[in-house]
Amino acid sequence: MATRAVPKDKVLYNSSTAENIGVMLQCQICSDFLNNNRECRKCGSMFCFDCLDKWMKEAGCSCCPKCGLDAKELPVGFEAFLFNNFVNRVVNNLEVTCPNNDNGCCEKTIKRCNYWDHVEKECKGRRLKCENCVYGCKFEGNGLQMEKHKAEQCLFEREEIKQLMKRSQIDSEGLVSMNKQLVAENQQSKQNIEVMLRQIDSLNSELAKEKEINLQYQQKLQTMMNQPPPNVVPVSILPPPPPYSVGEFQYNPMPMPSQPLVMPPVQQVITRKFRFYGKTVWTKFQGKGTNSEVPGWEVLIDVDDNPTGDNVRGSNKNSGVQIEKKYSGFIRDGILDITVEWTDGRRAKYYSNNILLAHGSPIKLTFEIVSTGKQGGTTGDCGYNQGLIEQLQ
Ligand SMILES: [Zn+2]
Ligand SMILES: [Zn+2]
Ligand SMILES: [Zn+2]
Ligand SMILES: [Zn+2]
Repeated sequence: MATRAVPKDKVLYNSSTAENIGVMLQCQICSDFLNNNRECRKCGSMFCFDCLDKWMKEAGCSCCPKCGLDAKELPVGFEAFLFNNFVNRVVNNLEVTCPNNDNGCCEKTIKRCNYWDHVEKECKGRRLKCENCVYGCKFEGNGLQMEKHKAEQCLFEREEIKQLMKRSQIDSEGLVSMNKQLVAENQQSKQNIEVMLRQIDSLNSELAKEKEINLQYQQKLQTMMNQPPPNVVPVSILPPPPPYSVGEFQYNPMPMPSQPLVMPPVQQVITRKFRFYGKTVWTKFQGKGTNSEVPGWEVLIDVDDNPTGDNVRGSNKNSGVQIEKKYSGFIRDGILDITVEWTDGRRAKYYSNNILLAHGSPIKLTFEIVSTGKQGGTTGDCGYNQGLIEQLQ
């Protein structure tokens, strides 16, 4: 059927026209303005996408609620419901009023498609929370009230308060994380205790088994002990040997010692031989101070290295002096402490610290006459011997 257009100047724009158009832009299910519209390919009825989807699910079919067109009956590639772009544009351009009109919003009208952006993000009349709510400000109000609040009233706009609140927040975060850690540790301890309790249980049951076995053994042993012993007759294999007689002597076998003989340990003592040689210096001689040097000092000593200290023996001569001297004493931990006896009865103490008894080491022995003997002289005469050590073997 061909349609002929009515001239534009014959169309009447009035309230009834607007009402009719308004009804045509409504969903056939919810009667609200079409939202994301779908139009029936057959009858042209229009629905919101969500309304149509919900209706089909409830009805259990894919039919048009008005004319019953079933999408399944259409050829492949044909959709029963189509999106109408023109209707969508008309609906989006409908003008609406802001709900905050009486509460500080300056916009007279908004396009329907911008409604939520305006109300939630742009509207000066929308309700806001103070930005400082993170620090604890509880103030809420519209845009104008908020500007005034922040400029004049908000306590948390002050920098020192912000810092204080930040610090206390960090402290409390630290406490929260510490608490979490303690809870986790507590949990771990509980698990450990459970494991230990299970181990104790299993050990207890093993112990009970062992006790049972032990009891059985004891009972067996008791039974065996209660039985009379078997009648054992000793069997002699060889007759006892007769005593031997050689002439008038009679030989009786010697009894074996009850304990094996233990040989005393042989102590290994190593003897080293040394020669000390150099000079003698008298710092006091016949009671008078002096520094007279006598060359040709020589001492031969043997050192027994043994664990209880090293005994020292030896002899001494100064050049040109024939009287023999005997040495005795010890060396231990680098200390040489010896006594010298002359054959004429004189005695002297020789002493040295930090001595290294080794070939080529220097040596200095201080001495003091402690007894003059028959020879006479002065007790308390003293001096030192100084020289080198030579190891002879
Ligand atoms: Zn609807
Ligand atoms: Zn239809
Ligand atoms: Zn507004
Ligand atoms: Zn505030």
